[in-house]
Amino acid sequence: MFKERVAVITGASRGIGHCVAAYMAERGATIVAVSRNAADTAALVDQIENAGGQAISVAADVSVGADVDGVVKTAIDTFGRIDILVNNAGITRDALLPRLKDDMWDEVININLKGAFLCTRAISRVMTKQRYGRIVNITSVVGQMGNAGQANYCASKAGLVGMTRSNAIELGRRNVTVNAVAPGFIETDMTAGLPEKVREDMLARIPLGVFGQPADVAAAVAFLASEEAGYITGHELSVNGGMHM
Ligand code: NAP
Repeated sequence: MFKERVAVITGASRGIGHCVAAYMAERGATIVAVSRNAADTAALVDQIENAGGQAISVAADVSVGADVDGVVKTAIDTFGRIDILVNNAGITRDALLPRLKDDMWDEVININLKGAFLCTRAISRVMTKQRYGRIVNITSVVGQMGNAGQANYCASKAGLVGMTRSNAIELGRRNVTVNAVAPGFIETDMTAGLPEKVREDMLARIPLGVFGQPADVAAAVAFLASEEAGYITGHELSVNGGMHM
């Protein structure tokens, strides 16, 4: 599916990003695994190499332009091209409005939204020269619905949808597609710490009756990142068990 394709996956050290990287590598992609500490993706790289694939770890904070430039340089120096970018790195800093501090707002916007912008701007330069690219942004069901205690996070994800569409318009002529995948409640470290009551309330709202797994998201990301999805751009694909329609 991804033979000869090089994929940069941000936030590949755990959760959804880790699963996306492993899923694409199993289908032939060469992986550039990005997280803040390269040691955190070392096991993933070993796993891919032991299975006969190719991968490297690159340390970068996606909200820092110089770090992002370093990712691009390392990827190009090592593999010569970048075909796929998955903007997956993300954080939450939850609080109800009166307690939502400036730094909690800034941190979430800087990583979730500005980070995706910095990666897209840098990597789309490579893709437009190649006349080929697939960019997939990880948004969220709460960016569509809103959620108490997550004004910063929901704003970052709704903003990412606007960016997805704008970038899709700008980059389409160069055969670069830009889409989003909006996960619902997926079982990862991000959701593991939520109070039992919140988990129960969420579950009651999911028609399929179960929480999602990272592999559910990975399959959707891989489809939008594939050559076969070449006539789809500017789309946000929900992977939420029917939680929001
Ligand atoms: P997670 O388990 O907490 O993993 C987050 C990943 O992002 C880690 O690999 C982390 O790497 C990386 N990251 C955070 N800040 C970074 C930064 N400044 N620079 C580079 N990497 C950074 O979260 P997850 O649940 O897999 O979420 C992945 C994405 O899906 C996020 O964008 C999240 O908003 C979205 N999402 C998740 C759910 C859900 O239910 N889990 C639902 C909707 C959307 P290090 O900390 O190792 O650097």
